[in-house]
Order: sequence, then structure tokens, then C-alpha cells
Amino acid sequence: MSVEVRTTCPYCGVGCGVLARLDGDRAQVRGDPDHPANLGRLCSKGAALAETLALGGRLLQPEVAGRPATWDAALDLVARRFTDTIAQHGPDSVGFYVSGQLLTEDYYLANKLMKGFLGSANIDTNSRLCMASSVAGHRRAFGEDIVPGTYEDLEQADLVVLVGSNLAWCHPVLHQRLLAARAQRGTRIVVIDPRRSAAAEDADLHLPLRPGSDVLLFNGLLAHLAATGATDPDHIAQHTTGFADTLALAQSDAPDRARVAKGCDLHPADLARFYDWFATTPRTVTVYSQGVNQSAHGTDKVNAILNCHLATGRIGREGMGPFSITGQPNAMGGREVGGLANQLAAHMAFTPAETDRVSRFWTAPNIAMKPGLKAVEMFEAARTGRLKALWIMGTNPATSMPDATRVREALRRCPFVVVSDVTRTDTTRFAHVILPAAAWGEKDGTVTNSERRISRQRAFLPLPGEARPDWEIIAEAARRMGFADAFPYQTRAEIFREHAALTAFENDGDRLLDLGALSDLPDADYDALPPTQWPARRGTEPGGRLLATRVPTPDGRARLVPVRHEGPARPVDRDFPIALTTGRLRDQWHTMTRTGLVPRLMAHAPEPVLDLARREAQALALQDGDLVQIDSPHGQALARLRISDALRPGEAFLPMHWSGLYAARASSGPVSNPATDAHSGQPELKHVPIRVTRA
Ligand code: SF4
Repeated sequence: MSVEVRTTCPYCGVGCGVLARLDGDRAQVRGDPDHPANLGRLCSKGAALAETLALGGRLLQPEVAGRPATWDAALDLVARRFTDTIAQHGPDSVGFYVSGQLLTEDYYLANKLMKGFLGSANIDTNSRLCMASSVAGHRRAFGEDIVPGTYEDLEQADLVVLVGSNLAWCHPVLHQRLLAARAQRGTRIVVIDPRRSAAAEDADLHLPLRPGSDVLLFNGLLAHLAATGATDPDHIAQHTTGFADTLALAQSDAPDRARVAKGCDLHPADLARFYDWFATTPRTVTVYSQGVNQSAHGTDKVNAILNCHLATGRIGREGMGPFSITGQPNAMGGREVGGLANQLAAHMAFTPAETDRVSRFWTAPNIAMKPGLKAVEMFEAARTGRLKALWIMGTNPATSMPDATRVREALRRCPFVVVSDVTRTDTTRFAHVILPAAAWGEKDGTVTNSERRISRQRAFLPLPGEARPDWEIIAEAARRMGFADAFPYQTRAEIFREHAALTAFENDGDRLLDLGALSDLPDADYDALPPTQWPARRGTEPGGRLLATRVPTPDGRARLVPVRHEGPARPVDRDFPIALTTGRLRDQWHTMTRTGLVPRLMAHAPEPVLDLARREAQALALQDGDLVQIDSPHGQALARLRISDALRPGEAFLPMHWSGLYAARASSGPVSNPATDAHSGQPELKHVPIRVTRA
């Protein structure tokens, strides 16, 4: 009998603990009863992990120009082309596009290589599509990208508000925890979402607001809190700045409740009930996710929510606080090590002091001094010829990026494309070099979940063929680029210790991300590391809630940020009269490269279906089951039609998952709007105007 290995699920940001074992050639997976994120629970995706291990189209050997190659030949070519491109065109002519699927150690090395040694900040991650607006909102309010609360807060709250979050399908185990707590204490649940999602079905109150009107809703709430004496003057005075200006703008944006109800297209009684519940329930947690983030005004939406928590002092205390929940298993780890183009490692920014600090820590010869290209900008730079060498790691932008047709054109035009991945995808078709990477179950390192908890992912399967872990691939490429002294790593534990040491380097408490206590873990302790929440400052107890009083801004106070309601980047019009939103299905993950291989997961939704509001379906004389063409200003897709009563009139919903690999041209990617948020660079994946015709 084989040994059971304690690892974590590779799908969503809940970060559930998993016990995995291999008996002969049969893998078994069950929930880890001792992991604090899930206490033994798994959702349908996590429970099917053992069925996804024989990955179809698995990459087993490096390839150069479509032919098998040795690792030496492939890595020499990668190193030479990146070095030559930088020599000829400068450091900003190259880029890395990485993934929330990478482990923290992988992410750390990719970021170190690009920002410290290649001299550009052109490294961005598919997490840009997921939570960049939350990062930007947190930085504006708190001075650092901090999620103040813990999962326990959802269980200890009396009111949980889910904004733009179908928690039931996208973070199912956390939703199960919430429902179990409600059964005990009678928690009220409010869901704010244009669509009556699975989470909304379980809610006490569903507010099907007009898409894009979240800022108006929360500005109206702030005005209501002030008018009813529900704000906390002591907290505002002692721990915040900006309240007066923020309230003044909120009051002018949302002068009365009737105006808010009209602007958000909500029933006045429902709006009044929500405002009253929020005002009178101290233990309130507001969970926000992609429906808030994936917007051309996502950062303002985040700050509109944070403003209400800061004004009531409901932050960082038991059962209360704003709570951003991330999509990917290691989006948080990527944020911690600088996986986003506009931040340095260890939550540091491109200020002279912090670039100097990181440069000295790394002994970096060529530290990037300014932010790099964010995801949408990066592919546009490749399309227009400014970016000449691109290394994509563990992600499938040819399908997942908005305006994916343009992204494919960018990949076709880019002179040198490297893809490290596990399986063939739409993106590997454009690669000049393919590098076979280790998959879940084979790789080993750390991830951080949405409540700042660092957990180990551990290997229980042998590496197939010639596949290698990403950190080894990056370190080997860096050595061949001439940076052997800075990339000497033989183990992932060395990388983790360096990452932890950087978080504590010259950190006198000005940054809350501090893993100093983990910076000299012996290898055996790293291997045995239990789930550990940060901060893990040397000499202090790790974890806990943050920001109740101490905030890492220069004056130690949280900032309320005045925000004004703006509509979607491109509203509906005569040519494109229907508002399309996109999202996940219960049993699928991203572009289905893994979950799409499991028949029982596919059975939930075997083909891409466009949900269309009944009024529009009737006006267009469309029937359930019709094959329809979806046209947006950005592209086309095909899907089966389903008439829906869960949508507001004038609206439609399309899952984000399908690609050309699984269904002809049916995916939300090609039709999505590439307009981005000015602060976060996150695309407006949640709203695009379309028209629908019978195919
Ligand atoms: Fe995996 Fe998320 Fe499901 Fe947990 S809730 S088992 S992390 S997909």
C-alpha cells in the first residue's frame, strides 16, 4: 500500500487540502480533514482529481519548430533568442505571461529573472484577468494588497453579502461552509448579481442589479449609513482618511434611494431591505469576486465596497470585513512574489526606495525601474511588433484572453514564442519552442489561498517522459542566459527560503507580508510545512485578522476613496442590443484542459450553451436547443440556445470554458471586450454587447 500524500487542490482559490495516493496505477483522492480551508470537504471538481491524471495530449518532450528536441537544444535556443532580442531591441522587447497555476517558487523565479536580470517588468499573469482590480483597490485603500479576514469570518458573520460572486459554483467548499454556518446561526445571505445564479438561489435576498451599477449601489449604501447614524465616527477619526470627500461624492452620485433603485434597476423595497440589513448588522462580511473585478471600473467597485466597511469600522474583526476571493489556486502566491507587471516582489512597488531594496537583495545587475506591460497590453505589443519574444507558462491565452482572435494574431506574428505547459492547447499551436512542464501531482512547492494561507502542494506521481518542474526550467534558462550565480537553486526549498527572506528584508513592519519566520526553514521542515497563514513575522504567532487598526499606509490610516458610478465600457446599442455576461460552470475549470477530460464532469454541461433572457428569445423567435451565432464588436462564437428566466430582460450568459479544442468556435474569449480598468488593467470580461441570430 502506498503512502498518502498531503497536498492541495489545483483548481480554485479556496485552496482545499487533499490526501492523494497512488496504488499501482490507480490514484485516489479525498479531502484532507485536517486542512483548515476545507476540513475534509471537496467539491465535484476536487473529488474528480484522480480521474484527470491521464492527461490527453500530454507533452512529454521538448519541441523546437514542431519537432522533438533535447532539453539542451531547446533551452539553449530560448536563452539565445531572449539574449539576442534584448541586445538588439532592449529589455522591453521581451515578456513572460505566466499563470495562477504556477507554484510560488516557480512564480518567484520567473519574476526574479525578468525584473531583476533581464531588466524589464514585462511579466504578467493570467491572474490579471481574475483579481487585478482587487489588488489595485486594496493598494489604494490599505497601501498594500491585503485580504484582512479569514474563512472563519464567513461562518461568524450574521450577514454575508456576495457581490459578483457565484460562490456556490466557483468556490463551492467555502459556500458549503457558509451554508453550514447559516444552519447553525441563521446567517442572512444577500447576493448581488444581475443573474439569478446558484448562489442567488440559496440567498435570503437577491438583488439583480443592472450590470455595471455596483458603484452606484454602494455609494447609495454609504450615504444611507451616514444618514442613519450607522457609521463609526471613532474608527473613521482614528483609523481612516478621506471620509468627508468620499461621502460627499457618494451623496452627489446617489442623492436618494429612489435614484439608486432606478439607476440599479432594483425594486425599491429590496434595496431598502439590503441597506437596512447592512446598517443594522455589525457582523457583516462582503465577499466580492470576478463580477466586481472583471470590469472597466472594477477598482472603483472594489473601493466602493471597502468604503462601506471602513466607514463602519467593520474590518479585521471577528465575523466582519471585506473579503476578495480569488479564482485561481495560487493567484495570491503570484501577488506575493510580484507576478503582476505593476508590482515588484514581496508586495513592493516601483518606488526608488523599493526598487533599490529588491535590487540589493538580489544583487541584481539590471533591475526594472518601471511597471511593465499588463496582459492585454502585452499581447497587443506582440501583435504590433514591439514585443519580439514571449514566454508563456502554464496558461492558454489563445482561448482565455478577451478578444482572443486578436491574441491569436499576436501569437502568430510574434517572432519567438515559448510555451511551457502540461498538455497541448490552442496556445501551443503558436509556439516555436514547447517545454514539457510538471503537472499537478508531479510538482512540489507552495501555494497561497484566498485567506493568505500558504499550503504545500506535494508530488505523489513520477514525472512523465522528460517533463520538468517549472522552477527547474526557469532556473536552467536563467543560467544559460549568463545568470548562474543568481540562479544556483538545487531545491525548491532554497527558493522558498529566499522568497521568505525577501519579504522580511529591511521590513520594519511597513509591509504586512512578512514571512521572516519561514526564511530559514530546514529542508525537512519545508517538506512538512503545515498550512500557515501570513503574516509569519519572526518571533510572532503567524496569521490572524489584519487591518482593524494598523494599516500599512505612510500615515497608518486606511483611505476611503471617492468613486463615481460609470456604466459599462461599451453599452448595448442598436447593432448589439443584448448585454452578455460570462462566467464559470459548476464542474469545469478554465479552458477545460483537465476537467474537460472527465465524462461525469462533462455531463453537467456537455456543450456550450448561451442562456438568453426569455423576452429576447421570444422577440427573435428562437427556441430552446437552437444553434445560435453570437456576434460582438470583437468576434463571433457559436452555442446552443437555452431560454432563461434567471436573467434580466435584455441579457445573456455564456460560459467561459469552451475552446476550439472542444467545440467549434464556441467560447466566450473571442467575443469578449478587451477594454480594461484604468487602475488595474483588468479586462471587462463581464460585459459585452452582442446580437444573437439563428446559426
Ligand atoms: Fe478544489 Fe476549489 Fe473545489 Fe476546493 S472548492 S475542491 S479548491 S475546486
